[in-house]
Amino acid sequence: MTRMPPRMTPFPTLNEDDLRRTADAVCYRSDPEAWFVDTGDREAVARVKSICAECPVRTACLEIALRTDEPHGIWGGMTPAERQRMKGAAA
Ligand code: SF4
Repeated sequence: MTRMPPRMTPFPTLNEDDLRRTADAVCYRSDPEAWFVDTGDREAVARVKSICAECPVRTACLEIALRTDEPHGIWGGMTPAERQRMKGAAA
């Protein structure tokens, strides 16, 4: 299987281990802009979340987004606001 290059990522601390863990990311083979939808657009958010739900690296993706406090885009099937709530609940 040919590995596609990572999507343009805003992850500030994406390291080699992260890259390896997310090598099978579904979004790497998709339009990266689709993951930076207006979170008020419920239809678009639901569409992206449904893709993330099937992604084999969803858990690793979410862990990275939480660790790096990624402020933009849908990662691991969660919006920035959902990730903030998750972090707040865990604190
Ligand atoms: S869970 Fe979603 S955002 Fe994360 S790598 Fe998979 S498709 Fe991309």
